[in-house]
Amino acid sequence: MSDVLVVACFVAYMRIKVQLQGQVCWGGWCLIMVAILQLLGPWCLSPHRIWREIMPDRPDPGGDSISCVTCNMILPASFLERRCPRCWKRLHRRKPDALVRTAALVAAGYILYFPAYYYPMSYTLQPGGVQYVTIIDGVRDLINAGFWYLAIIIIIASILIPLLKLTGLSWMLIRVRFPSKRRLVLRTRVFHIIHRIGRWSNVDPFIVALMAPLFSFPGVADVYVGKAALPFALVVACTMLAARSFDSRLMWDAAQSQEDSHG
Ligand SMILES: [Zn+2]
Repeated sequence: MSDVLVVACFVAYMRIKVQLQGQVCWGGWCLIMVAILQLLGPWCLSPHRIWREIMPDRPDPGGDSISCVTCNMILPASFLERRCPRCWKRLHRRKPDALVRTAALVAAGYILYFPAYYYPMSYTLQPGGVQYVTIIDGVRDLINAGFWYLAIIIIIASILIPLLKLTGLSWMLIRVRFPSKRRLVLRTRVFHIIHRIGRWSNVDPFIVALMAPLFSFPGVADVYVGKAALPFALVVACTMLAARSFDSRLMWDAAQSQEDSHG
């Protein structure tokens, strides 16, 4: 998550720099390097290769087989409900209660989505009064200050990604209930994208968490966390857990069973 934290630090730094003097010191540059290395890591390392170094893949068991969702090892069906010999994850044919858990988390995400955008994410106490800042206000302030590129980051991370995750997972849940073979590959790819980008929604909560203690000048200006911070953090948590709970193979199972019933 250090890459997300660095982006949040950058946005918070630019916001603070409008009113205060400041510069990035050695600790900041080290954190930026950690984030860059963390971003480059997955491009340089193949998870499958690392798993094979830990324990080589077994020969194709043939017949009825299952695969481990963590390390992708293919094992005979006799391993069902036992632990994977390579990563020690308990093996199931499909993730347990995937549909119910995902549907409940997506529903909770929709309910929390509206207070997260309606209420202020932060508020500032200053001699002129209290200034409330919602996520949309934050975007508008960045555009007015000339930081349109930061506004685009916030729009993508805080508005579009949570919405994409909720609508994308809803589409997949509907397609398990009302199966279709159309766009199965596209849906599976979208699911993997949703799984990967989920953590980027944490940018805005990180910005508030960084600014609240830094922007504390009693009697002059004091930043506090607003009512929207908790529902927004819960939206992010719900969508991340929903993506983790869902099993994309259920869409393929449903499409196959529909074809079998018509065939
Ligand atoms: Zn495994």
